[in-house]
Amino acid sequence: MTPEASRPASFERLRRLPIVGRALDWGMGGSAVSRRTREAGARIAGLKVTESVCPYCAVGCGQLVYTRDGELVEIEGNPRSPINQGTLCPKGAASRQLVQQPGRLTKVRYRRPGGAEWEELELEQAMDMIAQRVIEARENGWQDRDRRGWRVDRTLGFAHLGGATLDNEENYLIKKLFTALGAIQIENQARI
Ligand code: SF4
Repeated sequence: MTPEASRPASFERLRRLPIVGRALDWGMGGSAVSRRTREAGARIAGLKVTESVCPYCAVGCGQLVYTRDGELVEIEGNPRSPINQGTLCPKGAASRQLVQQPGRLTKVRYRRPGGAEWEELELEQAMDMIAQRVIEARENGWQDRDRRGWRVDRTLGFAHLGGATLDNEENYLIKKLFTALGAIQIENQARI
């Protein structure tokens, strides 16, 4: 039996924590593992692990997402990723807060032109207002031909800038939608 095969499963989970893995790789063994790191290992023991990708920037670091009964418990760097090899920058390490943080808004907020206060709107009403504005802006900025007379069939009435927390599939659909609407300025913050 190899030394790896004789190790208990809990050790292997602990070893997957980036800091533990690196300590072992450097030959320091368990002596270099802090109590806090051991506790972190115990916190994720037995949880479902899903491989994912950090949404914040174009580096695309691999993440391990730990869940219990569908609830997010922890996110850490994926040691199997050739890009980040188990590490995450401070933004990526805090990405759990995208889902779990007390200040996260869960209702639509609207501030009228010239208004000083935020109002809460129903989602359906907000979507109708956005659709109306998109239609008007598209028509107001529409061009059949450019200054040289070349046919362009486009609108300069709006552009789209996606946020870094949009995933690959959402960006694909956004590009499709805005190209179909005639927009030519379509970008994502993660590429900047
Ligand atoms: S934000 Fe940080 S952790 Fe996320 S992909 Fe970019 S470098 Fe990696």
